[in-house]
Amino acid sequence: MIEQEMIEEILIPENQIQKRVEQLGEQISRDYQGKQLFCIGVLRGAIVFLADLARYIKVPMVFDFMSISSYGISTESSGVVRILKDLDENIENKDVLIVEDIIDTGLTLDYLLRMLKSRKPASLKVCTLLNKKERKKIKVPIDYCGFDIPDKFVVGYGLDFNGLYRNIPYILVLKPEYYNKPMDY
Ligand code: 5GP
Repeated sequence: MIEQEMIEEILIPENQIQKRVEQLGEQISRDYQGKQLFCIGVLRGAIVFLADLARYIKVPMVFDFMSISSYGISTESSGVVRILKDLDENIENKDVLIVEDIIDTGLTLDYLLRMLKSRKPASLKVCTLLNKKERKKIKVPIDYCGFDIPDKFVVGYGLDFNGLYRNIPYILVLKPEYYNKPMDY
């Protein structure tokens, strides 16, 4: 999957991720008791997290997916988000939970929240596996967060570099020589 020499550090091992995802699933199940959850997975990074999380959610739920443009190979989020694939279903009057892999500056999420709010869901919350607290450029509400992480470029468990490493079951930091260091990383 990945050569040992490419790894700078394993930030979150697999067992810790699984334990935390289970806790999040339990918390979400309690909070949405008596309701039907409409989960929006943000492609492609969130699919691994959403697939695991969903199995710990005990209330009726449906999934839908959105694909938006985010980082290129060496650029930073600008907050100008392009929708590559919109939702298939209408979210009006539904209890919507956005499931994200990582929130960095918050610009992408801010855009997404404003856009989805205009579609008049009954409620709109956010669940992210990872949050880079120190990098926020804008205040965004995060209802469920797996882990606060430092300002490091991470891959694994759905997160990629150049499309690779999403299938690694833990979160790691790549050695800088293995990626083209963009301005901020
Ligand atoms: P934001 O708009 O919050 O700055 O950017 C969020 C998006 O940036 C994420 O959905 C993800 O695609 C990308 N991103 C931010 N930090 C990282 C990181 O450490 N690793 C990877 N693989 N993607 C990241």
